[in-house]
Amino acid sequence: MNGIHLVACVMQAREEHVKIIERDVVVIGAGPSGLTAARELKKAGHSVAVIEARDRVGGRTHTDVIDGAVIEVGGQWVSPDQTALIGLLDELGLGTFSRYREGDSVYIGPDGKPVRYTGEMFPVSDYTREEMERLITLLDRLVAEAGPEAPWNHPDARALDTISFHHWLRQQSDDEEACNNIGLFIAGGMLTKPAHSFSTLQAILMAATAGSFSNLVDEDFILDKRVIGGMQSVSERMAAELGEDVVLSSPVRTLRWSGMDGRDSAEGVTVVSDTATVNARYAVVAVPPNLYSRISYEPPLPRRQHQMHQHQSLGLVIKVHAVYATPFWREEGLSGTGFSADSIVQEVYDNTNHEDPRGTLVGFISDEKADAMFELAPHERRERILASIAGFLGPQALEPEVYYESDWASEEWTRGAYASSYDLGGLHRYGRDQRTPVGPIYWSCSDIAAEGYQHVDGAIRMGQRTAAAIHRELASGLQSAASGRES
Ligand SMILES: Cc1cc2nc3c(=O)[nH]c(=O)nc-3n(C[C@H](O)[C@H](O)[C@H](O)COP(=O)(O)OP(=O)(O)OC[C@H]3O[C@@H](n4cnc5c(N)ncnc54)[C@H](O)[C@@H]3O)c2cc1C
Repeated sequence: MNGIHLVACVMQAREEHVKIIERDVVVIGAGPSGLTAARELKKAGHSVAVIEARDRVGGRTHTDVIDGAVIEVGGQWVSPDQTALIGLLDELGLGTFSRYREGDSVYIGPDGKPVRYTGEMFPVSDYTREEMERLITLLDRLVAEAGPEAPWNHPDARALDTISFHHWLRQQSDDEEACNNIGLFIAGGMLTKPAHSFSTLQAILMAATAGSFSNLVDEDFILDKRVIGGMQSVSERMAAELGEDVVLSSPVRTLRWSGMDGRDSAEGVTVVSDTATVNARYAVVAVPPNLYSRISYEPPLPRRQHQMHQHQSLGLVIKVHAVYATPFWREEGLSGTGFSADSIVQEVYDNTNHEDPRGTLVGFISDEKADAMFELAPHERRERILASIAGFLGPQALEPEVYYESDWASEEWTRGAYASSYDLGGLHRYGRDQRTPVGPIYWSCSDIAAEGYQHVDGAIRMGQRTAAAIHRELASGLQSAASGRES
């Protein structure tokens, strides 16, 4: 068989395995956002297909069993303001349970000494406490003014978006510990980027999506509940309802589209993945913005999108789970909660599973500290991370039965964690266009949500919002077709 003949045979074999699907809407990505959009559209009477690159649904939510322990590798917590997620949990018949939070928390300041405390405020000097409270009040005012929907419309949006959060904090306060602690909540804690790499407007948006900066720094609020059975079950239940309309292990490579600016009156899309080609009226791209450009668009997207997408990137965090025979820290009167802007592990929490006799701790290592940890050999990294957790909760933390580090940045179909944010100056420059459809192409993911930004709640809100917009379009098309037939 010569080379040309071989290539022809391979292409023919591929084509035979490719399913041709006709639908009203094709959704790219079976994370919580894409599945919500598909489910809502189907409920409204439209036909859908969801094409997913991985061999599982759930995207950045993944409930796995590792060495016999149930681990929430990705998104897990639910807060009381996340009403879209709470409503969906109710609809899907999924229950929640509260995070264990009785007893003292531990704070490690710049002197490296663990100090037990209760309440929300860290055990810092009177001056640092006053400075932290003043910064929180200042941020609460800006957050209330800006809101989550369109922070780029704030009168000082440009000024706030062209100064890094690190430098803005230091313009407001001369107390380094206060600046580091407030910075930690947004930088290491949420955007998982160094505070010098994103703007104050981006920090304000992050806090606005939780209602206020005070809510964001209140772990009892923001890390309130977990889903019984795991957060991934939200996606699994939606996918079960959609049945064969969900196609797994089939990365989308090409999106052909037409119908913008009158270039082509026959609006529509053709989505080409490894195992299916879907012809539809609309496409929902339900993947994080850093992956938009993994798809080839024919014709290319407009200039504005090409530029905007290069300014959105994912942060980096290692989520570490350590499982012990018992939750030993509770016997010491500790809640398992610890904070330190200066330690390798910046936050640690009791993450024991529902009705599980074993005790689980979860710790987070962000941005440049994560870079440093990934430089180490795995056994050394494990030692350093466990020693850091032991710094909060004692030497028993050094010997877990199960130890697991998430590594989302190595996953081709995510490439970071938790979610994406703009580089300095990007939010006020591009934000107003991040949700604008391009012809028949709609964008839907937690990374461009208003309320619930970066969270599962935001993914669901975007799915609902996108489905409603496409439903309106499809319904108006049906109406005009019907009136055309009548006339
Ligand atoms: C470690 C970690 C901890 C987190 N903690 C929390 C938390 O406690 N609470 C919370 O609310 N949120 C948390 N999050 C964030 C939350 O998980 C995400 O915001 C949410 O999953 C985003 O949903 P999505 O549908 O927008 O995107 P994703 O979940 O990323 O789904 C996108 C899907 O698109 C697929 N895809 C990508 N490219 C293609 C392609 N070319 N073709 C086909 N399919 C493609 C991907 O495989 C993926 O399945 C966390 C995330 C991580 C990583």
